[in-house]
Amino acid sequence: MQLHEEAEPVQPFAIKMLTTEDRVRDHYLARFTDLTSQQLGMPYSYVTFIADDKQYVKSHDSLLPAETPVEEAFCRLTVEQGALLICEDTLEDSRFNHLRYVVEAPHFRFYAGIPLYGRDGTILGSLCVADLVPRQLTDIQQDVLAKIAQLVEAYLDARHAVGLFDAVTLLPNRQHLIEDLNTLPREDGRTGLVLIDCLNLSYTYQMACALGMVAVENQLKDLTQLLQTQLPLQDATLYCVALGRFALYLPEERLHGLLEVLDGDAENLHTRMSKHVRVTVQCHAGVTWFRGGDDAQETLRRAVSALHDAINYRQPLCLYDSFTDQIKKDDFQLLNDLGRQLAQGPGLHLVYQPKLSLHDGTITGVEALLRWNHPVLGEVSPARFIPLAEKTTLMPAISDWVINQAIQQLANWRQQNIALPLSVNISVSDLGRANFADRLIAALARHGLSPQDIELECLETERLLEMPEAMGCLSQLRKLGMRLFLDDFGSGYSNLNYLQQVPLDVIKLDRSLLKDITCSQVSCVIVRHLILMLKELSYQVVAEGVEDQTTAGMLQSLGCDEIQGFWFARPLSPEDLIHFICNHSAQDMLQQLDQQQS
Ligand code: C2E
Ligand code: CA
Ligand code: CA
Repeated sequence: MQLHEEAEPVQPFAIKMLTTEDRVRDHYLARFTDLTSQQLGMPYSYVTFIADDKQYVKSHDSLLPAETPVEEAFCRLTVEQGALLICEDTLEDSRFNHLRYVVEAPHFRFYAGIPLYGRDGTILGSLCVADLVPRQLTDIQQDVLAKIAQLVEAYLDARHAVGLFDAVTLLPNRQHLIEDLNTLPREDGRTGLVLIDCLNLSYTYQMACALGMVAVENQLKDLTQLLQTQLPLQDATLYCVALGRFALYLPEERLHGLLEVLDGDAENLHTRMSKHVRVTVQCHAGVTWFRGGDDAQETLRRAVSALHDAINYRQPLCLYDSFTDQIKKDDFQLLNDLGRQLAQGPGLHLVYQPKLSLHDGTITGVEALLRWNHPVLGEVSPARFIPLAEKTTLMPAISDWVINQAIQQLANWRQQNIALPLSVNISVSDLGRANFADRLIAALARHGLSPQDIELECLETERLLEMPEAMGCLSQLRKLGMRLFLDDFGSGYSNLNYLQQVPLDVIKLDRSLLKDITCSQVSCVIVRHLILMLKELSYQVVAEGVEDQTTAGMLQSLGCDEIQGFWFARPLSPEDLIHFICNHSAQDMLQQLDQQQS
């Protein structure tokens, strides 16, 4: 790869690697310098690298400090000469006689150094010998020094190659890609970096469990071959940047063919799982455009962002989109802020939304809903941050905070003779936590409360069924008399078969089901039959998100037990809730609903 004349000077990767800490490498370099000393009968031998205007000295028996400014280094002269440099007496040589380690201890009088070349032809440093008395090097000794220098070069090359290639696919790896991107010339046209993801990770882990890592490695080797033979890669290098994740880059005008193939279906790609079984490969790809000289890490990050869009939206190919990228960044920032907020305390609080009985007009309970007053963004909806937190370890901390807060509030209301049950939203993963049920019951007991005082609302029956611990927890709590709610029923896909297998008391019909029942015959028929069916299965039915009296009246006539929504009450602060309860009249409420019916 050629460096463009105007490009910023880029420090060769090999030199960067050499100046980083590597005990094993330095141990073997010391062996090489021991060998050099022995073979040449020299008291001192060392290896140097030059980078960042410094000389780094690598050898155990060197008298020199580990780092010295490059102006003081003999080695600089060797690098400048680009070939073996011998100084038989430093005091007699004007290039040397003023240098620090001639004038000061160790007062070197003899020096010979030979450059060490990297694979790309750059000089990395030098292999040096020195003595405190003037000397000469015979032709044979010079030859020995040159041969040992070659061995050192080969060793360094091999050692760094190990870190730059993927051991299974033998392709250059992510570090290699970054390095190559960093040294791309600044040219007029755009280049596309393509990331291709070919493995379903959870399936791969299952395969590793069942068949062992060899099966996975076979698959990775197959994938490599498959991509190399079936994709129009032109002469682009294929990199392996993570497990089952590949990368390549090409100038825009040569990339279109590949993008077309990646955007089409890749169903005829198969890899072997074992001798007889083959697996169909589903590829996703992300592309970002960049120019030589752009920040390589940022370019790769954008390609990863595009790839994740493709995976999340189940698209074969996605282009980097700064809009979705910004959302992801904001989400990440939000999660960080939320973590900090949980540790600090204030900023989070609960509001309480009452539920109304359509049978007798009484308030049947309240639901606790989390609120977050973000210092910069203001009120952030739980609909935004809860789904994010659910993918992280923040969720248990949030649920603990909510439950703790809710129990304290309940105890407070009991003292004021308000005896309504309080429902709390929890995530399925909470139910799977060790001793969740025992801890909840104990926390209630500490405040003189019983399991009937609190209710749990949760989503996702399917996930519950996959978690025996969560199912056990629900059964335990239900046996103790706690009522369990299924939230958001009818939003998306609700499997009725699963429903019956989960211990539940109350089903909350999602707002999306109800919002059109007053104007759509079809909606009305669906809701009527749903309520009928759920009632026949002995569930209590609560309708959520009821915003007007007409809908409330209609739900009453359809046999729905309770409603919740802005029409009856918005989520309220604890003080407003007390005020609301005190002013509530069941009689008035029934009358309002009756008016609706007539
Ligand atoms: P959800 O449990 O289904 O709660 C009902 C949501 O609908 C609440 O939104 C509520 O403010 C809103 N809502 C109530 N009545 C109406 C109405 O008439 N019309 C409309 N359009 N909306 C209404 P909110 O408080 O923003 O909460 C959103 C979701 O966040 C909740 O949905 C729940 O899934 C989750 N969430 C809230 N608090 C917590 C919590 O403490 N823990 C957990 N795990 N999730 C929570
Ligand atoms: Ca809820
Ligand atoms: Ca809901």
